Amino acid sequence: MTPEHRAWRLSGGVIETLELPPHPEWFYVPDITSKGSPVCLIPGHHNSDYETFTLPLIAEIACRLTPWSTWYLAPGFFDCHLCSGKAWGEIEVVVCRTDINPPHSVANAYHESWHLAEALLRPDLLAALDARLASGPAWPGDYYPQACERRARAFEHFAMLFDEGCRQIIAGDHVPSEIQLFWYVYSGGFGREIMSKRASKRAPRRSGILSRMKASLFA
Ligand SMILES: [Zn+2]
Repeated sequence: MTPEHRAWRLSGGVIETLELPPHPEWFYVPDITSKGSPVCLIPGHHNSDYETFTLPLIAEIACRLTPWSTWYLAPGFFDCHLCSGKAWGEIEVVVCRTDINPPHSVANAYHESWHLAEALLRPDLLAALDARLASGPAWPGDYYPQACERRARAFEHFAMLFDEGCRQIIAGDHVPSEIQLFWYVYSGGFGREIMSKRASKRAPRRSGILSRMKASLFA
């Protein structure tokens, strides 16, 4: 397999290497084509640091923040050439491009993680967050001002602040609710909660243990 035709699938903490066929046999993402709009991954040049540096980081982020989801990583994807990534919360799939630089790729991974997570968060928590973000810039066009994009951008910047070492923002007794929510998703607490809840649905006998869990943050 040539490097240009290499892609990756992340699921359950496992990194699987895929081979992308040449056009016109582009790789259609099976987890999406079965339930939503067809999306195909296309071959191309990866960022030179992607496989050795960025890929392990994104695999860790995907497993920590959204362990219930499946991610596809490829140089490009059809019908969305200007996007760095795309997430489908209802069907729990992310595609991210591998031809962008490491900081942008990591920020994008956090952005797309949020899109998946917010599909499972309680509406009242999202409404409280939206109230905080309402004072943000009046971005041009229809896309950037959307509430879901404001949340994802805010979370992406929060996560990058933490990654860069600025963790004192959650110190003290009066941490704003939006920061607590961001921290819960970033830290992996939300991902663990989702997985526990799903396990309890599959194994009803464990409900006694799960009944002692703290109040749920998801709908
Ligand atoms: Zn977005």
